[in-house]
Amino acid sequence: MSALSFASMFMPQRVLTALTAAYFKFTTWQALGQKEYHREPTTINHTTMNIHLVPALKDNYMYLLVDKESGNAAAVDPVEPEKLLQKVEELQVNLTTVLTTHHHWDHAGGNVELAKLRPGLIVVGGDERVGALTKQVKHGDEITLGSLKVKSLFTPCHTSGHICYFVDEKDPAVFTGDTLFVAGCGRFFEGNAEQMYKALIGILSELPDHTKVYCGHEYTLQNFKFATHVEPSNPAADEMKKRCENLRNEGKPTVPSTIGEEKKYNPFMRVKESSILQYTKTSDPVEAMKILRSEKDSF
Ligand SMILES: [Zn+2]
Repeated sequence: MSALSFASMFMPQRVLTALTAAYFKFTTWQALGQKEYHREPTTINHTTMNIHLVPALKDNYMYLLVDKESGNAAAVDPVEPEKLLQKVEELQVNLTTVLTTHHHWDHAGGNVELAKLRPGLIVVGGDERVGALTKQVKHGDEITLGSLKVKSLFTPCHTSGHICYFVDEKDPAVFTGDTLFVAGCGRFFEGNAEQMYKALIGILSELPDHTKVYCGHEYTLQNFKFATHVEPSNPAADEMKKRCENLRNEGKPTVPSTIGEEKKYNPFMRVKESSILQYTKTSDPVEAMKILRSEKDSF
């Protein structure tokens, strides 16, 4: 039992709240001393769920998805298990599931340790290379988290087993790993432009426009340098770039954006637009995807 939970047996709620806040400020300060946080932890309140952003490593995001009705929670790409579990304790939620977007170590590298610390966890992924995997999913498979339904979207290209997770609620969310970033997309390590076209245009663009996008990295400002280079006269890109620069100056994450916003400024989501086809000097959107990505690789 920690000193804090021991104290909670005797103290009034008001005092306890202040004490809890002070305790977490202190532990955050301790962590800052060891390693610089790239972003503040943040919570996004959806109608039926809360999504907690937990920064990890240099620029990764882990997420804790919590069903408000049951208090059941899923960790998305929990690469730093201790830090993730600290959040679980702080919120007093019931961690049942791990959702893994892909096998790369900066996403799946914490799975084995987390499964050891919390026996009985369901570890979901689309690739046998995902550590501690207990449930391999394919396109369209649904996972239940309390009252929430989480749909697997097979989006191979960055890796051949990449999965995005769509929480199909009236206030929806999608976890896009290293497939879709704010204003960008992942590298084509194990796939090609046709696959990324299918992932971004065929699958993710078809989600409701108000779907909030939770991606795997804070790459937004670098991505906007490229996006505004490709489309120098796109006001939506300028506007969002400024908004994100301000957020970053305040130490806040630029995540989440929405699918509707991404369609307005993300060049990889816009390969059917005439401005992108002109820039890439082709009439074929798949070819435009290929050209954009190879340019971005050396930008
Ligand atoms: Zn990756």
